[in-house]
Amino acid sequence: MSDTALASFPYQTIREVREMLDAGAVTSEDITTRYLDRMSALEPEIAAFTTVSGDRALQSARDFDTRHAAGEAPKSTLDGVPMSLKDVLITKDLRTTCGSRQLEAFVPPFDGTVPARLLSAGAVLLGKTNCDEFAMGSSTENSAWGPSRNPWDTARVPGGSSGGSAAAVAAGMGVFSLGTDTGGSVRQPASLCGVTGLKPTYGRVSRFGLVAFASSLDQIGPFTMDAYDAALVLEAIAGIDPLDSTSQPVAVPSYTDVLKQSGGSLEGVRVGIPAEFWGEGLQPEVSETVRAAIHQLRRLGAELREVTLPHTPYALAAYYIIAPAEASSNLARYDGMKYGYRAPGNLNSIDSMLATRDFAFGPEVKRRIMLGTYALSAGYYDAYYKKAQQVRTLIARDYTQAFEEVDVLVGPTCPSVAFALGSKVDDPLEMYLNDVYTVPANLAGIPGVSIPCGFASGLPIGLQILGKHFDEAGILKVAHAYQTATDWHKQHPAL
Ligand code: GLN
Repeated sequence: MSDTALASFPYQTIREVREMLDAGAVTSEDITTRYLDRMSALEPEIAAFTTVSGDRALQSARDFDTRHAAGEAPKSTLDGVPMSLKDVLITKDLRTTCGSRQLEAFVPPFDGTVPARLLSAGAVLLGKTNCDEFAMGSSTENSAWGPSRNPWDTARVPGGSSGGSAAAVAAGMGVFSLGTDTGGSVRQPASLCGVTGLKPTYGRVSRFGLVAFASSLDQIGPFTMDAYDAALVLEAIAGIDPLDSTSQPVAVPSYTDVLKQSGGSLEGVRVGIPAEFWGEGLQPEVSETVRAAIHQLRRLGAELREVTLPHTPYALAAYYIIAPAEASSNLARYDGMKYGYRAPGNLNSIDSMLATRDFAFGPEVKRRIMLGTYALSAGYYDAYYKKAQQVRTLIARDYTQAFEEVDVLVGPTCPSVAFALGSKVDDPLEMYLNDVYTVPANLAGIPGVSIPCGFASGLPIGLQILGKHFDEAGILKVAHAYQTATDWHKQHPAL
């Protein structure tokens, strides 16, 4: 590997790797080997991966190198670039556990749409990343395989549920990673680990082959070094898919062209600051840092406006009814009959299902199934599930109204910096409160991105930017302008 290539390893952007590969300064095998070595060295400490697919990664890296040596043009910008996938994304012939004992030995017979699109674009899969069981949690502590750790302070959580993906990118174990966001699981760990995390509009990216948690909220999104790379990955994965009836037939723009044309200016962009995003429980350092970031947006030309989203105080309650309700239905399939774990012994079908579910689901998943089943049961449906859906409509309306006045909304991604491992595991309500600023976007179906904007006591803080349905370009433009003017996203932990 040449000296220039060595200089930026391991924190290289997709476009840096692309240039080096195309120029022949490095081979994909070189880069892949170096990431795999780094993973061997750091994984005992960080535990970002559930499965490392080293042989497979090297094979696809060599495949790129052979094509490159033969003078073939790359298949895409991602060709030969090492990455990872959250372990709820179905990968053919590669174990997909969802952080659950239910699927400890599950090897899917097909690729989900997002893995398939990335792999056919030539991206090199380093492995599957750790997450809270079935993506339920905010810290990865609900993974059956144990927690991942925050690369900035290994005594702290990386956030969740896509904590392994965020930790992998923050620790320089791969160039990018894919996670999923049902109530904040891309944006919150991105904030806590100091990387860029994008949740696209509901319907922007196919969910086919994403193991369902709450089907009306789930979206797949990238963790990257910066907003420009997020635009690149989104271009590769977005767009309608006949295998997901909720994916929308909305044209996919060239996000990177929008960023190039914007030239880092925010002239004419109306930025809304919701009054409800600065409430109780927000750490003062987080509040100050995010406010400073918003002032930076004004210096870049943005016009700031105060706005109000009056139903925000009800978002968390509505989310924690709707998400468990959908989960209780989606998780009914883990009965040990069709696939996954089955309790041993010669049991009749009812006892077998009971024993299977009792052993193989962790406590948080059981809690969600109980909450969700209760909220959906006859007699309680109107009081809980139906009411929550009505609140959801009001929340979505708040956003529609706000976006009549402004182009994007900004605020903190999380109320605090990364918390200590173990500090919230015994208090589910405390854990749920971490999602207070992220769940409204899922309820409204709008896109959001979290970008690094500073530190408190050496721990990263995230700025959240929310946009109109299908206006990923609008939020990425703001994120890119901010990153052109600042270098918070270029700070990396000492490992
Ligand atoms: N922390 C939230 C929850 O536990 C969100 C999870 C997610 O987005 N997958 O439900």
